[in-house]
Amino acid sequence: MEYRDPEAISRLEEDAITYAKLAVEADEKGLRSLAIQYYCKAVESLSRLLELETSPSLRKIYSKKIREYKSRLNYLRGCVASDVRDPNIYYYAISTKPNSLNSLNKDSMVELTPPAWLKPFKSSITWDDIVDLEHVKRIIRQVIVYPVKRPDLFPLGWPRGILFYGPPGCGKTSVAAAVSSEIDAEFYPIDASMILSKWLGEGEKRVAEMFRFLRSRASKGKPVILFIDEVDSLIGVRSNEIGGEVRVRNQFLKEMDGLQDKDMGKIPLFVIASTNKPWQLDPAFIRRFQKRIYIPLPDYQTRIKLFKYFLSKLNTTPDIDYDLLASKTEGYTASDIRDICQSAQLEVVSEFFESGLANELNSKPRPITMNDLLEALKRIRPSVSREALSAYIVWSQKYQAL
Ligand code: ADP
Repeated sequence: MEYRDPEAISRLEEDAITYAKLAVEADEKGLRSLAIQYYCKAVESLSRLLELETSPSLRKIYSKKIREYKSRLNYLRGCVASDVRDPNIYYYAISTKPNSLNSLNKDSMVELTPPAWLKPFKSSITWDDIVDLEHVKRIIRQVIVYPVKRPDLFPLGWPRGILFYGPPGCGKTSVAAAVSSEIDAEFYPIDASMILSKWLGEGEKRVAEMFRFLRSRASKGKPVILFIDEVDSLIGVRSNEIGGEVRVRNQFLKEMDGLQDKDMGKIPLFVIASTNKPWQLDPAFIRRFQKRIYIPLPDYQTRIKLFKYFLSKLNTTPDIDYDLLASKTEGYTASDIRDICQSAQLEVVSEFFESGLANELNSKPRPITMNDLLEALKRIRPSVSREALSAYIVWSQKYQAL
């Protein structure tokens, strides 16, 4: 049986990374035969790694890299017929050109193919699905909806970077998805794992590719929203160089500056970044996000509305005491409140199945009672501590956020 030799693996991994980096550098400089040599070496090391490695997730990464480098090799060796349309190869060929942030006109002329890892997401969430958060909706209308609808009314432009911060589960992602639906935007949600990679040099390249593609989409007039979830893990101050994070951050800042270029004119491209830990962001990043919007924990009245909203989708008895539920859920997020309702529902449905009644034709579970909800509440603890809440307030004061 093949056994895992950590030292051999780590040596091979180092080799593969070095060769891949050299290959990409040579490729970018147009040094075709050198690039071919290094890609071959990278593929060789990766293939050896594939033989030794037992972890399925790493094996998957190695196989993917081998495929990518082989297809690049084919391209460089001229084996690709000119009429063959391989989106990755085509895109890669474009991406080897020097990245210029003033390349918008060029971008808009070329129909760029999206990087394989970047997928638009069609969300069905609308403003009606977002309970309360009226102040947030208002700011979003000011900075995204109105500029998209009437760009002529904004001769000085508008903020391109918007930062949502606050406790998890309070609606940051939902608001971003809802605004995309409202303006019928192409919505691209991403997170750090899609960008960062142990393959040095690739992360910043992905950032550049992504922005080039998004600019090209937005330059056609269709609003485009890039949503970066948990941006602190991509651009955090504690990032280290293991996955090339520093270079990713610098590239990202460069791209954000590019969005302010005159070239961008009235092009409707917005970047919404979301974080639960704004204190982990560095000032250079924060500066690029002119609009910083706090999405808070729901207060008493909002908790009542949230219970009403979630329970309106379920069958309940008329005795639900919303005031009592709201008073017992201080510190709970919107998502915790949804979980309470869902947990009560699950119990009722389980009881229904366990009683055997579910097998009877046209039978229905009993309605959820106040007692079911109080029991569910005991099972679900609030996700956010008081200390975390004060940290948001301190950060908001420092950055004069809204
Ligand atoms: P965040 O991005 O802040 O972590 P999400 O937007 O992903 O939070 O919210 C998680 C879930 O909580 C959503 O899918 C939704 O069910 C619920 N939720 C959060 N905020 C609201 C809200 N204001 N109105 C209705 N549901 C909400």
